[in-house]
Amino acid sequence: MRYSIFNLMRQALTGHRGWGPAWRDASPKPAYDIIVIGGGGHGLATAHYLAKVHGIAKVAVLEKGWIGSGNAGRNTTIIRSNYLLAGNNPFYELSMKLWEGLEQDLNYNTMVSQRGVLNLYHSDAQRDAYVRRGNAMRMHGVDAELLDAAAVARMLPFLDFANARFPIQGGLLQRRGGTARHDAVVWGYARAASERGVDIIQNCEVTDFIRQNGRIAGVQTTRGAIRAGKIGMAVAGNTSRVAHMAGLKLPIESHVLQAFVSEAIKPFIPGVVTFGAGHFYLSQSDKGGLVFGGDLDGYNSYAQRGNLPTVEDVCEGGMSLIPAIGRVRMLRSWGGIMDMSMDGSPIIDRTPLDGLYLNAGWCYGGFKATPASGWCFAHLLARDEPHDVARAYRLDRFARGHLLDEKGVGAQPNLH
Ligand SMILES: Cc1cc2nc3c(=O)[nH]c(=O)nc-3n(C[C@H](O)[C@H](O)[C@H](O)COP(=O)(O)OP(=O)(O)OC[C@H]3O[C@@H](n4cnc5c(N)ncnc54)[C@H](O)[C@@H]3O)c2cc1C
Repeated sequence: MRYSIFNLMRQALTGHRGWGPAWRDASPKPAYDIIVIGGGGHGLATAHYLAKVHGIAKVAVLEKGWIGSGNAGRNTTIIRSNYLLAGNNPFYELSMKLWEGLEQDLNYNTMVSQRGVLNLYHSDAQRDAYVRRGNAMRMHGVDAELLDAAAVARMLPFLDFANARFPIQGGLLQRRGGTARHDAVVWGYARAASERGVDIIQNCEVTDFIRQNGRIAGVQTTRGAIRAGKIGMAVAGNTSRVAHMAGLKLPIESHVLQAFVSEAIKPFIPGVVTFGAGHFYLSQSDKGGLVFGGDLDGYNSYAQRGNLPTVEDVCEGGMSLIPAIGRVRMLRSWGGIMDMSMDGSPIIDRTPLDGLYLNAGWCYGGFKATPASGWCFAHLLARDEPHDVARAYRLDRFARGHLLDEKGVGAQPNLH
């Protein structure tokens, strides 16, 4: 059913008894053209674009839990396209453009809110790096503005500008950046894909791969064997585990990242702000909670929960930036498993195994990539060739030594 003001009025007159489920909770069929493993944002977006753009709807999304139970439903919802490198910038800008039209495309309120993303700088060297990044963005047609301290103070007067160790000198602003409601994105893609015939199968864990004539021909699951012409992996933090079932070793490590929400307070943060002298970022949800996060927990793990030393570290970052935040009570915190690649950039490519395709390495920036990731993975699965804006995301770049190191920190996954 289409969501519209007319349908809303019609339902209001009949006691709202006519709304159907947003998507079909399908049972597995014996075979599909394409199976996508992982019912997070990326898997569901891939299925939607396979059906909508490429006309391939004999597709199943297999999810071991419930859709959105992974990082898609655990992230801090920031979207932006403020990248420096030519291999990244056009991809994330495609994503931003897809975000800008997503609600119309999906006929679903994903609460895309372009309230701005501001990265603060605290030294001359950091300002110069931001000037370079801003110029690279503008050369790619992406909006970027460099603000001095006075301009930042007009936007965010409550920041600690005179902090003795990290005085704020200014910031790089992308006004088109902002936030989107993460679980609504999952539900919106699921609904749109399901309407086009895609089977979304929950509680269906992939436990092994079926090999036939030297190629991957299907999967074993907790709900039986399912065959497919092509299989795409979009399992984020579980990438190494699932790849291991196929005998693949990937340049990926899994790490925990935590997020935090405070009690609801009156609106005071207009957009997203990041501290440049430590790892801390902050926005405010429409319900009033401060949503914030920081660094990885610092060791490999598949546990979807975090630990106290990082809670302390993140709160210290918050206090350095906004001392008043110390008066706010923290309400909830949780963790997600990040698929950290060796250079901090993703992989969208075929694997060395015929029939098996890979979408992974999103580190902790994969939510903003959701639409473009789905778009490009669908392109790869449908046409067997990489999409133009994802050409840098080939798996063999690690063997060739052509890393896509946006941060410039080297081949150390926990630093990206
Ligand atoms: C705390 C936190 C904050 C973050 N903040 C941001 C942010 O502000 N902005 C941003 O851009 N990114 C952010 N991210 C990163 C972003 O959430 C992820 O990069 C992105 O969601 C990963 O893609 P996905 O949505 O497909 O992953 P997921 O939602 O994790 O989807 C993968 C799915 O695969 C399923 N799966 C795994 N193994 C199997 C199996 N064997 N069989 C079947 N299914 C399986 C899992 O259950 C899961 O549902 C954050 C992440 C976390 C944890």
